[in-house]
Amino acid sequence: MTEYPYQTHDYDVVVVGAGGAGLRATLGMAEQGLRTACVTKVFPTRSHTVAAQGGIAASLGNMGPDNWQWHLYDTVKGSDWLGDTDAMEYLAREAPKAVYELEHYGVPFSRTEEGKIYQRPFGGHTTEFGEGPPVQRTCAAADRTGHAILHTLYGQSLKEKAEFFIEYFAIDLLIHDGRCTGVVCWKLDDGTIHVFNAKMTVLATGGYGRSYFSATSAHTCTGDGGGMVARAGLPLEDMEFVQFHPTGIYGSGCLITEGARGEGGYLTNSEGERFMERYAPHYKDLASRDVVSRCMTLEIREGRGVGPKKDHIFLHLSHLPPETLHERLPGISESARIFAGVDVTREPIPVLPTVHYNMGGIPTNYWGEVLSPTEDNPDRIFPGLMAVGEAGCASVHGANRLGSNSLIDLVVFGRAAAIRAGQIVERDTPVPPTYTEGVDKALDRFDRLRFADGTIPTAELRDEMQRTMQEDAAVFRTDQSLAEGVKKMEKIAAKLKDIKVTDRSMIWNSDLMETLELTNLMPNALATVVSAEARKESRGAHAHEDYPDRDDVNWRKHTLAWVDGDKVRLGYRPVHVDPTLPQSEGGIDPARIAPKKRVY
Ligand SMILES: Cc1cc2nc3c(=O)[nH]c(=O)nc-3n(C[C@H](O)[C@H](O)[C@H](O)COP(=O)(O)OP(=O)(O)OC[C@H]3O[C@@H](n4cnc5c(N)ncnc54)[C@H](O)[C@@H]3O)c2cc1C
Repeated sequence: MTEYPYQTHDYDVVVVGAGGAGLRATLGMAEQGLRTACVTKVFPTRSHTVAAQGGIAASLGNMGPDNWQWHLYDTVKGSDWLGDTDAMEYLAREAPKAVYELEHYGVPFSRTEEGKIYQRPFGGHTTEFGEGPPVQRTCAAADRTGHAILHTLYGQSLKEKAEFFIEYFAIDLLIHDGRCTGVVCWKLDDGTIHVFNAKMTVLATGGYGRSYFSATSAHTCTGDGGGMVARAGLPLEDMEFVQFHPTGIYGSGCLITEGARGEGGYLTNSEGERFMERYAPHYKDLASRDVVSRCMTLEIREGRGVGPKKDHIFLHLSHLPPETLHERLPGISESARIFAGVDVTREPIPVLPTVHYNMGGIPTNYWGEVLSPTEDNPDRIFPGLMAVGEAGCASVHGANRLGSNSLIDLVVFGRAAAIRAGQIVERDTPVPPTYTEGVDKALDRFDRLRFADGTIPTAELRDEMQRTMQEDAAVFRTDQSLAEGVKKMEKIAAKLKDIKVTDRSMIWNSDLMETLELTNLMPNALATVVSAEARKESRGAHAHEDYPDRDDVNWRKHTLAWVDGDKVRLGYRPVHVDPTLPQSEGGIDPARIAPKKRVY
């Protein structure tokens, strides 16, 4: 093997990822005087969070009555009763605080006439525990909310003297004696290797949307955290739940925010019918995402799609006042022009359900601590390791995430991880020494990929994986499609051994980087299809045609998937059903959030 000299860096905390979750965690850790490094493969403000348009949910009640219990109820129902109640309760209660903090850090939110933070309606967010009209709960900075949040958090983190290692690619975790002691990285622009030793490592690496062919997520969303965790022998949770956003632009997959429907946009089929009125009489186009995506797919299947191939749907905005489009939705007007050649003031936008978000991820408690469940202890903590943001699974989104509940998840749990680290990371003890065997193992894998001389180019294998996932783990699933998907994906994963990398250099070697990313996408994709094949019910985003109903007796439980090469072992852990705050202290009445049929 090639010798790779490396530099070591010692920190209290190393955060991998500088999206909304990573930056909020980094800022919180640094504020508490923990020596904090943030490692990121792209420049912080280029993380996928920058693309978040619609907004961030919190029951501020600026535009009419609202409260955290209604937000909790909507999140529970949105999750199709698979979310962990303690985590969802924490999210809904802490959300207003987390948003006001963002405001005070300097996020330039859109404003109401009185100068309060502007809030818009979003799918599945309601009043009166789902009995009342839609609520305006989603705080927005026009349609560039993620952009505003990232820039603000990056600036604040620098002010707090967090140290950034930009364009460093994390290869693998260091796991020694049952705990994480840091991470091994490759510096992309000069080819040097860096080992970060830390008392706490935080994975904030985002989702794995790019395991599918058509996704709204950036090309960098390759599930690197999940890949590293799987290689460390830890499980991934609830991976079968993949969200399709109703309105990706037909052809490019570029997102049109749900805020467009929040501001009054609506969908039609080839007959010009507003078909959502038929499926969701109450909330119509603002039903939750899994529901709208399925209805669109049904319309297309039944021959009522639009366009020459009748294979998509129209989204109308032209009836909205030009000021609304200009002030509230400027970014999407531009996207529609560039990616669909459409002037939204005159024509509808062609749209199609597109992979958008991963509900599953690295299992954690609501402090972000990674879990390594056993039979006896499903909540066992794996020391030295945290996961936050889309990479993690706390689990607040369960089987389906509500729009604008991810940005709030990033900041609430990024902040929670920092609070927790402040309590458990000892400041005056030494940083764990470099675990050299672990470093050698990581570099050995790196070296094998660098000199991989098989027959299949990375791009070809990636394409095969993406098309298989798109076809066999789609909006609607059957026993047959999933069984085929598992068989195909096992073969595809096995082909990683025969991968071919042509560029052997160490500097800006995108061939090697994409290969490392593919080795991360693969376990995520495999866990997704295997977990989906096993779940014999329909719940949230997992719509199984052979089992059309939700089955709470047998399946109200979290899937765990341990991935080892091309094989997956499954296990399960119970859902946390009880709220933590007693009713006597203002907590929710448990009867309110007991499972029932999910209709919008
Ligand atoms: C187009 C779009 C619009 C959206 N709009 C909304 C919205 O309006 N409201 C909402 O609530 N949600 C929205 N979402 C969802 C939400 O934006 C994402 O779930 C969220 O931004 C993910 O943030 P994150 O911090 O977890 O990860 P990301 O923002 O994806 O950041 C990941 C970070 O990890 C780093 N990283 C990854 N792998 C490595 C590695 N190997 N080594 C080093 N660094 C690494 C990257 O450099 C990056 O900094 C949207 C998503 C998309 C795709």
